[in-house]
Amino acid sequence: MTESHGGEARIIDFKAAAERVRLEAAADAGRLKADHGVTPGLAVVLVGDDPASQIYVNSKGEKSREAGFHSVTHLLPASTPQDQLIALVHTLNADPKIHGILVQMPLPRGLDEQAVIAAIDPRKDVDGLHPINAGLLGSGRPNLIPCTPLGCILMLRETLGDLSGLNAVVIGRSVLVGRPMAQLLLNDSCTVTIAHSKTRDLPAVCRQADILVAAVGRPQMVKADWIKPGAAVIDVGINRVPFRDPVKAAAGKTKVVGDVDFKPASKVAGWITPVPGGVGLMTVACLLRNTITAASRIEGIYADALKSG
Ligand code: NDP
Repeated sequence: MTESHGGEARIIDFKAAAERVRLEAAADAGRLKADHGVTPGLAVVLVGDDPASQIYVNSKGEKSREAGFHSVTHLLPASTPQDQLIALVHTLNADPKIHGILVQMPLPRGLDEQAVIAAIDPRKDVDGLHPINAGLLGSGRPNLIPCTPLGCILMLRETLGDLSGLNAVVIGRSVLVGRPMAQLLLNDSCTVTIAHSKTRDLPAVCRQADILVAAVGRPQMVKADWIKPGAAVIDVGINRVPFRDPVKAAAGKTKVVGDVDFKPASKVAGWITPVPGGVGLMTVACLLRNTITAASRIEGIYADALKSG
């Protein structure tokens, strides 16, 4: 996989995979209901009126209803006090109809994200951010895994097969993406380097990678000459930038680009993900999958048939 292919990289098809994972979750939900009388329940909490977060939350609600889940969305004003938010989390922890709780991040200023995440019952933590779930992943015993890196590792396994022995570089060390991504690659026996804003000679580090995951939030930062010929490149970044067209730019219109300079990069990489239309599509699908996993475990069923990890 590391030889130059002299053509265009193949696209890693997250769209088809997301559709498949959603259909599997819907089928599992049907089975849980028919065989055990359990409807998987997902509660999504949004505090404040950030437009991007509203879009994500709407999509999570819509896709979970389509999959036959019991779906509730709690919309709270940005002025919600910390103790009220924590009280809601405790109510959802105790609600037997709810198996998954997701508090949309980032929270408005003044709210303590860590305290809110820590208040979620780890068995219902479908975002995989609770310290217990992060610790389990870090110790090689994954429970509930953050949705975006989960989608990426599933796709890498599907695309490349056995990952063991491959050199993987993850750019970014956030709790949400970079760290869990690195842990998942390590659990699959890759040799993993985590790069970040203090990394020296980042292009040289990236050129070692058979698998390069960019989770930075800097538009088109990763250039073609940072990529080892034939490598698999996963672009997690979602960046809004103004159009080059001065008319559109003057109208304040923006477009979404990734962290990788896609066109030139696809001449060097073996596999690549576009933005938009790539990684993001799998995130909600993996949320459904995590909710099925949580519901099964909480209800003590399908223990041997769980798919995540
Ligand atoms: P964070 O801002 O939390 O983390 C960014 C990371 O990038 C940090 O570790 C930072 O290093 C590193 N970094 C910043 N600048 C550089 C640089 N010049 N060189 C090397 N490393 C750098 O972001 P997230 O992890 O939450 O998200 C990353 C991107 O992924 C964003 O664009 C976000 O929108 C997107 N995203 C996409 C999702 C999807 O579903 N597709 C889901 C979640 C996120 P340091 O730690 O040293 O500051």
